[in-house]
Amino acid sequence: MSNILLANITWNPTGWRNTYINPRAGHGYARQNAGHESLNFKFDKQGIDNEKFIHGFVQWTNPPKNFQNGGLIIFYTRNTEVNKGQIVGVYGKSHIIEPQKHFIVIGFQNNRYSINIRAEKRFSILFPIPLSADNYKAKSSERMVPQVGFTYKDIRFAERILYDELLELSGAGVLQSDFKKLSDIYEYYIGKKFILQFLSQDEKEQEELAKYYKRTKTKEEILEDLKNLQPTDSEEIVVNQKTYKRDNKTIAQIKILRDFKCQICGTTIVKKDGSKYVEAAHIKAKHQKGRETLDNIILLCPNHHKEFDLGDRIIKSHDSNFIDIILNGQEYKINLTTG
Ligand SMILES: [Zn+2]
Repeated sequence: MSNILLANITWNPTGWRNTYINPRAGHGYARQNAGHESLNFKFDKQGIDNEKFIHGFVQWTNPPKNFQNGGLIIFYTRNTEVNKGQIVGVYGKSHIIEPQKHFIVIGFQNNRYSINIRAEKRFSILFPIPLSADNYKAKSSERMVPQVGFTYKDIRFAERILYDELLELSGAGVLQSDFKKLSDIYEYYIGKKFILQFLSQDEKEQEELAKYYKRTKTKEEILEDLKNLQPTDSEEIVVNQKTYKRDNKTIAQIKILRDFKCQICGTTIVKKDGSKYVEAAHIKAKHQKGRETLDNIILLCPNHHKEFDLGDRIIKSHDSNFIDIILNGQEYKINLTTG
């Protein structure tokens, strides 16, 4: 038995909310008739859907006998407009049901609209950003779904799909409610909360550089390096045959020098691979021409970073070695060389 199913549906540019006849469909009959799945993401089909359940259709040769009811159906389609396979949405807490016929549409095989799957609305979603199916195939020539209309998948596959879609949505201006729904689906099937492990390109560079300098330089050498920084130094540097932003080198070096500790509370976050995490804050912001230099960077834990950015901040004094700062009424004297 499997509780993850990948099902093929015919392409529908309306997002499966209206019947659509695709002149470019692979099947002769489909070029003249709408697929019954063309309403799979219309959530309020009259006389069919109700407050709790949405109903849809998949054109399979035989229903998937080994599908465990309550499982997740992931929809694959061949987008005939871009001629690419896409993962376009999911039905959660879904059941395979006996085909039932409802209102009349000019549809495949018979002209009464048919349904053969049912799912819970709060676990079903059309992906705001479709995923490219090629990312989930070993070879691009491979067929994602066989002719029979579906294939069984495992939970690892579902996790990748849901995770990747959440990742896509994290960076895009999509509805909060869509994001919430998808994180609920993720949590329900994968058994853990979706946590965004987003590292920006800069953070990735800093991580690599920190690893490199930890191995190759002493703290004294790093401090020398940092003190010798010139505003005229080039923006890019080559380390270990790879090009990096010089600013990322500087920040990585400052993190090593100050032991990856929050300079307000002393916290270090240890990641599961054993490396350490801390954030770099600019005292004078970049847009005010603040530079990546020892005297303009302080290291903070995520909490203090937010307090530093959003809180009431008064700088009492600031020179190349120390900053004396009052943050939300609390005074801190912070060493700007070795931390
Ligand atoms: Zn802190």
